[in-house]
Amino acid sequence: PADAVLQALQHADVARLLPTPEAESDKYRRGVVGIAAGSARYPGAAVLAVSGALRGGAGAVRYVGPAGDAVLARFPETLVSDAGPAKAGRVQAWVTGPGAGDDAATVAEVLATDVPVLLDADGLRLADRDAVRGRGAPTLMTPHAGEAAALLGVRREEVEAARLAAVRELAAAYRATVLLKGSTTLVAGPGGGPVRVNPTGTPWLATAGSGDVLSGLAGSLLAAGLDPLDAGSVAAYLHGLAGRFAAQGAPTGAHDVADRIPEAWRNVR
Ligand code: AMP
Ligand code: MG
Repeated sequence: PADAVLQALQHADVARLLPTPEAESDKYRRGVVGIAAGSARYPGAAVLAVSGALRGGAGAVRYVGPAGDAVLARFPETLVSDAGPAKAGRVQAWVTGPGAGDDAATVAEVLATDVPVLLDADGLRLADRDAVRGRGAPTLMTPHAGEAAALLGVRREEVEAARLAAVRELAAAYRATVLLKGSTTLVAGPGGGPVRVNPTGTPWLATAGSGDVLSGLAGSLLAAGLDPLDAGSVAAYLHGLAGRFAAQGAPTGAHDVADRIPEAWRNVR
C-alpha cells in the first residue's frame, strides 16, 4: 500500500528495473560511470568499485585517481584518466569515497558536478554536508551503521537499535537517498515515503571490500538511468544474491562477490 512505512523489495520489481540495452544502443547511451576512489594506501578499493561498476549495466567505466595501474592490470576495459573528476570527460554518474583516505578535494570536486553521485566510505566523512544538501542532482549515500552513527553524531549502538529512524533522519538531513547497510539493508529517499527493505544477502558478505563492490554496482545503475532509490535497492538486491552465490555456506572474498553479479542478474531475469 502507498502509505506503508516499509516496502520489501520483490524479485519482479528488480527484474523490471534492470537496464537492458536496446538493439540500436551504444556504450554512451548505456551510460558512463565515473569512479573517483582509491588511494596509494588503498588501491584495492578502487579495483573493487570498478569490478562492481563493470557488472552494473553502464556502457563504460571511467576511473580517475592514484590506482589507475592496479585498476588496468585487473580490468583492461576501464577508461583511465589522468585528469581530475571535473576534467575527466562526460560521465552520467560518479562514485566517490571508497579507499579515499584523506582526499577531501576529490570528494568535493565530485559533489560539485551536475550528475548523480554515490558517496560511500571515507567520502561520507570527508563530504561537506551543505555541499551535499545543495546539489542540483541526486546523491546516494551508502553508510554502514558505524558510518551512519558518525554522521548523526551518535553511538553505533543507537543506530543499530533504531535503524529505520536513522536512515530517514540521514536522508532528511542530507537531502539525499540513503542506503543503510547491514544484515538488513534499508533505502530511504529524501522526501519521506516508504523505505525499501532488501531481502537478499548473507552474513558472509561481512567481509572487507564488500561495500566497495556495492558502491560500484549502484553507481553503474545510476549511470544507466535508474533513480537513486531504484539504483540503491536494485544494487543491494543483486549484491545480496551475488553474495549468496559466492559464499554458498563458506567464506568468500569481495572479488568473488563481484564475479557472481552476472549470475545474480540472470537469476532475477
Ligand atoms: P561495508 O561495511 O562497506 O564493507 O559493506 C558491507 C556489505 O556487506 C554491505 O552490503 C552489507 O549490507 C553487507 N553485510 C554486512 N554484514 C552483513 C550481514 N550480517 N548480513 C548480510 N549482509 C551483511
Ligand atoms: Mg565500506
